[in-house]
Amino acid sequence: MDVDAADVVQSVSTGRVPEAPQVDRILEAAHTRALRHREGRVADYIPVLAAADPEAFGVCVVGVDGVRHDIGDTRMRFSIQSISKAFVYALVVEQLGHERVLEVVGVNNTGLAFNSVIAIELNDGHPMNPMVNAGAIATTALMPGEDADAQWEAVRDGLSRFAGRPLELDDEVYRSESETNLRNRAIARLLQSYGRIDRDPEGVVDVYTRQCALSVDAGDLAVMAATLADGGVNPVTGQRVVSADVCRDTLAVLAANGLYEGSGEWLFEIGLPGKSGVAGGLVTIAPGKVGVGTYAPRLDDAGNSVRGQIATAYLSRALGLNIFASAPFASAPQRESSS
Ligand code: GLU
Repeated sequence: MDVDAADVVQSVSTGRVPEAPQVDRILEAAHTRALRHREGRVADYIPVLAAADPEAFGVCVVGVDGVRHDIGDTRMRFSIQSISKAFVYALVVEQLGHERVLEVVGVNNTGLAFNSVIAIELNDGHPMNPMVNAGAIATTALMPGEDADAQWEAVRDGLSRFAGRPLELDDEVYRSESETNLRNRAIARLLQSYGRIDRDPEGVVDVYTRQCALSVDAGDLAVMAATLADGGVNPVTGQRVVSADVCRDTLAVLAANGLYEGSGEWLFEIGLPGKSGVAGGLVTIAPGKVGVGTYAPRLDDAGNSVRGQIATAYLSRALGLNIFASAPFASAPQRESSS
C-alpha cells in the first residue's frame, strides 16, 4: 500500500489517533483511493445479495472516545452476515468462559473455505475455527437460552448492545438464505453426529441464519468494532457489553481467522484484527484507538470486500494503527528532547 507521505501521522502502533480534522482528511484520502477500484464481484450464492448496488461505498471510524467520522454511504443498510460471528463469539465467551469455548470450538484457522464440510471430517468433528460456518454454528449452539427463540433474542440483544441501537432482522435476506442454506444444515447435522451440538440442529441453524440477516450500516459496524477496541465498553452509549478479557480473546481469534483464506495476507498488509462478511461489510479493530466499519459489496476471490480492504489499509498505514509496528525506543521524540 502506497500512502501519501503527507498523510502519515505516525508509523508506530503506540499513542493516540490525531485530532478530528486530520482523521477526516485521511479518511477522505482513503475513500478516494479505494473508490477507483471496480474489481471483484457481488456475492450471489444467497440470491438476494445479488441485488446490492456494486458502487455503494462507505467508511466510518469511531474512536474509543466516541467521536465518529463518516464518508460515503455509511447509512446504507446491508446484512451483517459473517461479521456477526465475531460478536456472537464474544457474547458466548463472556457467558461460558475462555476454556470452555476453546475446548468446544477452537481458535485455529482450518485453511479451508468458510463453508467447508471436509474441514470437520479432517479434524474428527472439531470445528476448529469460530469464524467459519462450522465453528460459528457450534458457537451459536452454545448461546444460553432455553430454546431457539430465547437464544435468538439473546443474540439480537447482545449485538444491539455492541451497536448501541436495536438491530432489526432483514426478513428478505433471512428468507432468501433459509431457502438455500442446505449446506449449513448439513454442517449442523454433522456436528451433531460428532456430539459437538447438543441442541436441535435445525433450531441452531435458524438462529445462525437470523444473526447473519441482521441489518446494519457501516456506522453500526464502526461502533461495534470500537466497543471491542475499548475493552468491551461501547464508547457511544457508555455501556459495558463484554469484559476486557473477552475483547482480547475475540481480537486474537479475528487476527488469525477474520478474513477467510485471506487472513494471513490481511494481517501482513493491515496488521489489525478484522472480520468481513459476504454482503460486503468489514470491521477492523485498532485496540485502544478506533473501530472501523466499511461497506462495499464487490468481493475478492476469498470473499472479502475489495474497497473495504483498500480503504482500511490506507487508514492503518496513515494513522499508525498496525499493531506490529514499532520504532527503536532510543529514537522516540521524548528521548531525543531529554538527551
Ligand atoms: N450467512 C452466510 C453463510 O452462512 C455467512 C457467510 C459469510 O458472510 O461468510 O453462508
